[in-house]
Amino acid sequence: MTGLSPQVTLDEIREEVADLETPEERIGYLIELGQSLPDLPKELQTETYRVQGCQSAVWVVPEIHSESIEFLGSSDAPMVRGLVAILLAAYSGKSPQAILDLPIAEVFQELQLQSFLTPMRSNGLHSMVQRIQSIARATLPIAEALAQSASTFSKASNPIGARGLPSLPRISIERCREDFPILQRLLPSGKPCVYLDNAASSQRPLEVIDCIRNVASEHYANVHRSGHDFAAQTTMAMEEARTVLCHFVGAHSTDEIIFTSGTTASINLVARSWGDANVRAGDEILLTEMEHHSNIVPWQQLAARTGAVIRWLNVREDFQLDIEQLEQVLSPRTKIVSVTAVSNVLGTINPVRSIVDAAHRVGAKVLVDAAQSVPHGNVDAQGWDADWIAFSGHKMLGPTGIGVLYGKRDLLEDTPPFLGGGNMISSVSREGFVPAGLPHRFEAGTAPILEAIAMKPAVEYLQRVGFQEIMAHERKLAARAIEELSSIPRLRLLCPSSPEGPSSPEHKTGIVSFVVDGMHSDQIGQYLNAAGIAIRVGHHCAMPLHARFGIGVSCRASFYFYNTMDEVEQFIEAVSRAVR
Ligand code: PMP
Repeated sequence: MTGLSPQVTLDEIREEVADLETPEERIGYLIELGQSLPDLPKELQTETYRVQGCQSAVWVVPEIHSESIEFLGSSDAPMVRGLVAILLAAYSGKSPQAILDLPIAEVFQELQLQSFLTPMRSNGLHSMVQRIQSIARATLPIAEALAQSASTFSKASNPIGARGLPSLPRISIERCREDFPILQRLLPSGKPCVYLDNAASSQRPLEVIDCIRNVASEHYANVHRSGHDFAAQTTMAMEEARTVLCHFVGAHSTDEIIFTSGTTASINLVARSWGDANVRAGDEILLTEMEHHSNIVPWQQLAARTGAVIRWLNVREDFQLDIEQLEQVLSPRTKIVSVTAVSNVLGTINPVRSIVDAAHRVGAKVLVDAAQSVPHGNVDAQGWDADWIAFSGHKMLGPTGIGVLYGKRDLLEDTPPFLGGGNMISSVSREGFVPAGLPHRFEAGTAPILEAIAMKPAVEYLQRVGFQEIMAHERKLAARAIEELSSIPRLRLLCPSSPEGPSSPEHKTGIVSFVVDGMHSDQIGQYLNAAGIAIRVGHHCAMPLHARFGIGVSCRASFYFYNTMDEVEQFIEAVSRAVR
């Protein structure tokens, strides 16, 4: 970004203007100045950076550094570009405090351009100044925190250090439970709940709970609309969360990160928008037997609308995908492969990259359902080369009602928007509408703003614990559960009982599902509940998978990094008692 900074300084502008005598000459100079403004890359000309209150399109893009903010900007109106150039010369590279202290009215008076600064002028200069000052105000606490923490934090170890944010102190798995208020709550038995239903929804640390409360009580407003301070601060916070998610997913740009209400909404978005535009009668959609209903039903609906055919990749007896069957079920007719990265029943981790490569070889697109893999940091847009990735916040310490659809930029740009309404348009007339740029063209209406903002502390918390540590801990717990459960008579594990098997704990997440012959899973669930242990009983929204193994429902314990070995022992003991 720095390479695009304004070339003209405020002093140079002052010198030039000093020689101008008439208002016409000054307007001519503004236009000339606008022409000298470096082009703003197209991908930054988005609704996020658009300044409301200007008749022409104006964008102001901040890049926040540890001690200063650099600005880029542009407009589609030549004279307004000149005004933007003056603002960039005045503000770019200054500290947030210096930006707020700058007497901008005096600068424009000196340049004899003060009339442009009135709030009612359609050039929107007043709105631009307000936007820049709001950004500086919102950044002030970050800058202060940085100044204070400069000596204690090391930038090198920070995964989002590139954005100039402070590096994050580590959290040890041993002490992380203290951060989860619900894990401290005592049941009527006087003991805390043993929460082993994490694959359905995780619990939230204080950082996430506090984030929602703080934004709601300090500066909440709707985003991407108004120019006032609350709106600017909230917009900044939401876009910061998008940036953190962009790094987390490994996307190229924040334009590829679309906020949705969750995995289900993300998959439906693709099926409705890309699917309706691209899938025709006779085309094939490839799913696997281990998909969640959220990754089956939207495709069945698409097939019903279009006459496309659904094909299935089987799950083997060892609870792995039959990858060797892939070449037979893929064909040039395959339009899309939609596959889960991790099974929500088996915990099996699928070889996403191999599936993507095979699908791409026949020209098919690939959607990866990452709902069960993101809680372990297992998401890699570049490494997977997936066309879309869908996931939910509530399984990774975040709030409910928020999720993400990552999509490759070119693909998203070529896809018509699905939901229509506010926020997703660039303009509307009686004749029709022009959709907004990415990502907003897929974010119609008011987003779950507080929830989106709270995704930042959720991701950061996981990063602070460390994904390797999370996986290692979960595997240790799952391995112990598998070892003990496999010796209980009549109990059938839905994963290999031998630690050496291909879907042994080394190849799976902390999900352990099982059935007990001659016993309804509900009985076990109720028995465990009475013992203060929360597991899930049912088909887990994966009826085809259960049918594949000749069962209707199963019991599922899902461990996360805040669970302890003592909890695993309590669980094993309770299951043994229930079966006995
Ligand atoms: N896919 C998988 C693999 C899941 O585990 C889930 C949640 N159980 C979903 C999709 C749906 O997620 P959500 O309900 O958050 O949309």
